[in-house]
Amino acid sequence: MTRLERLLPRLSELGVDAFLVSGVENIRYLSGYTGHAAHALVTPHGASLITDYRYAEVAQEDCTDFEVVIRDRATTTLPAQIAQLLDRSQAKRVAFESEFTTVAQLEGLRAGLPQRGLEPCAGVVEALRYVKDATEIACLRRAAALADEALAGLLRDVVRVGVSEREIALDLEYRLQRSGSEGLSFETILLSGPRSSLPHGAPGERRLAAGDFVLFDFGAKISGYGSDMTRTVVVGEPDERQRAVYDTVLRAQQAALDVIAPGVTGAVPYIAAREVIDASPFAEFAGEGLGHGVGLFLHEQPLMMGADCEQVLRPGCVVTVEPGIYIPGWGGVRIEDDVEITETGYERITHSPRELICL
Ligand code: ZN
Ligand code: ZN
Repeated sequence: MTRLERLLPRLSELGVDAFLVSGVENIRYLSGYTGHAAHALVTPHGASLITDYRYAEVAQEDCTDFEVVIRDRATTTLPAQIAQLLDRSQAKRVAFESEFTTVAQLEGLRAGLPQRGLEPCAGVVEALRYVKDATEIACLRRAAALADEALAGLLRDVVRVGVSEREIALDLEYRLQRSGSEGLSFETILLSGPRSSLPHGAPGERRLAAGDFVLFDFGAKISGYGSDMTRTVVVGEPDERQRAVYDTVLRAQQAALDVIAPGVTGAVPYIAAREVIDASPFAEFAGEGLGHGVGLFLHEQPLMMGADCEQVLRPGCVVTVEPGIYIPGWGGVRIEDDVEITETGYERITHSPRELICL
């Protein structure tokens, strides 16, 4: 069944006869379209991809299951174009993606489609993306492999006392893109020394000093699919507290991995990791959440954010497992891997060593 065919039954469930897709990742997922500035209109009678002359060639090449409509922006507004297509299929009620529609766009749609009911909806295509197919998993595996390779080279050649966070981050990004990553999965987080306690922070001018933690959180991207991995290393010799914090995070991650299996809810690994950190002297410094799905979005379902997470891990889900301890003013440790849920358990798709690396 094509992705489009999987979407169609959702239209009748929503009580609509057309679905306007505006999220660029959702459009890509359904149609294969890799350009920008597009909307997709799906009806039981056919699907159209609306873009303009800048993306005409890309759209024709990418979208085999969609009729490509090139809108003349000088003469036809987007709502007018949509109205024409809806007239053709006699669609009356249209669902639109509330998360990807601005208030101004909605006002335009209301004015341009006065006779039609507009139905906000959210998470419809995202639900189809919950479980990845073989093509998607291959992209994520490739992105994870590029990240492993870049990190190994970086630790070998670049990370040492005196080099700045920014210099290291730029080198990392160059390595990723040179080996085939399309841009970056997200803005690289690269923090050293006490700054490593910022769960998310941008690399700065700080230069590495002996004994620093260095935290790398980054990813590669293949065909729109981004990997997401964190490693924390020490430049030089770690002290006792650094070892203890690192060991706690590693044991927390392993505890979560040990209970990951198809059919369990996200709460189960969350609680397993949390129990390890809660039993340690660092309980008050535990980070929030355990992990998230990865795919066309950096953070997508299932989101393992707490003990009340009821989302079920299914074979084909790809999630991060990323416990962390963040001690303000001292530093932090996060270890993050991407794992594919399989029929029997899980498979780690990021393979960088997890033991504490001392450079
Ligand atoms: Zn990350
Ligand atoms: Zn993550």
